[in-house]
Amino acid sequence: MTPTLEKLIATRIRQDVQGMHAYAIQDSRGMVKLDAMENPHRLPARLQKELGERLAAVALNRYPGERIEDLKRALAKHAQVPAGCELMLGNGSDELISLLALACDVPGATILAPQPGFVMYAMSAQLQGLKFVGVDLTPDFELDEKAMLDAIALHQPAIVYLAYPNNPTANLWDDAVVDRIVQAAPGLVVIDEAYQPFSSRSFLRRLAQHEHVLLMRTLSKFGLAGVRIGYMMGRSQLVAQIDKVRPPYNVSVLNAEAALFALEHEDVFAAQAADLRSERERLQQALKEMGVQSWPSDANMILVRVPDPARSFEGMKARKVLVKNVSRMHPLLAGCLRLTVGTAEENTQLLAALQSTL
Ligand code: PMP
Repeated sequence: MTPTLEKLIATRIRQDVQGMHAYAIQDSRGMVKLDAMENPHRLPARLQKELGERLAAVALNRYPGERIEDLKRALAKHAQVPAGCELMLGNGSDELISLLALACDVPGATILAPQPGFVMYAMSAQLQGLKFVGVDLTPDFELDEKAMLDAIALHQPAIVYLAYPNNPTANLWDDAVVDRIVQAAPGLVVIDEAYQPFSSRSFLRRLAQHEHVLLMRTLSKFGLAGVRIGYMMGRSQLVAQIDKVRPPYNVSVLNAEAALFALEHEDVFAAQAADLRSERERLQQALKEMGVQSWPSDANMILVRVPDPARSFEGMKARKVLVKNVSRMHPLLAGCLRLTVGTAEENTQLLAALQSTL
């Protein structure tokens, strides 16, 4: 006899999955959406129309094929992949993070990352039954070098993640510390440069020196969050191994075509990123004048600390400005909100809304 749905779930769905919370996406209808580090600028109308024509011509009856290879070539050129390195594609870098955990699934493997950090590193470990070790940052959100090196020596992690810049703290790490962590790591090191369009530094030029380092990027923060294209570069032999666990058709032809189109108009996105970098500085200055504590940012977000984060978050929401309340994510983030940098107009609304809650 078929069991009841309740019994089916209780007996056939993993216990830890039953206990998990689904990844929460806030309802942003009618809001100034500054919660997820998206690029607030759309394509100019002329390009949007041209893109529509390009997408209309795509054959949808075939599995993704040659165009995916075209996209890999275009991204390799865009990112200046070093000689001897290869690039693989993910359905967003989120998928690449999951695939890495899948590829490293040897019994007892550990994934290690500084905390607070991007939640998917821990989640990918949990879903693969791997151990996750989070190493606390210092109270000013720098890498705690000794704690990192000790944890690496103790746990011998299969993967160390370093988001560079970090989410949600938005800062870059000291390069000398990064180098020492890279040297100490007995497994893979993934440098996650999701926020590269807004960052003053990159690991790219040092990538070729390290066989065990993978550099991960995404088109999401570039301006294509809806298109879901992430990519990862590293030594060809290593990337070829990880690529084996990728579902064969993980990138849609429509997504690939849209990404190719965007890369043909890189200058438009570069100008948008430049605008957001200058808006970020304006926001930082205004926050300072308001007496709100904030930290240096090399990303399109700013972490702030306010006296009552729940009141500020709800008060801003009531004024139709949606940010992320990260104050309960980790003890080091007590009192903190994460603000995504928006357009000039949105940022002005953000500042007024925040001010009214203080
Ligand atoms: N890495 C970091 C550090 C992030 O903050 C994010 C998204 N916020 C991602 C990766 C995932 O990006 P995507 O899946 O959109 O490529």
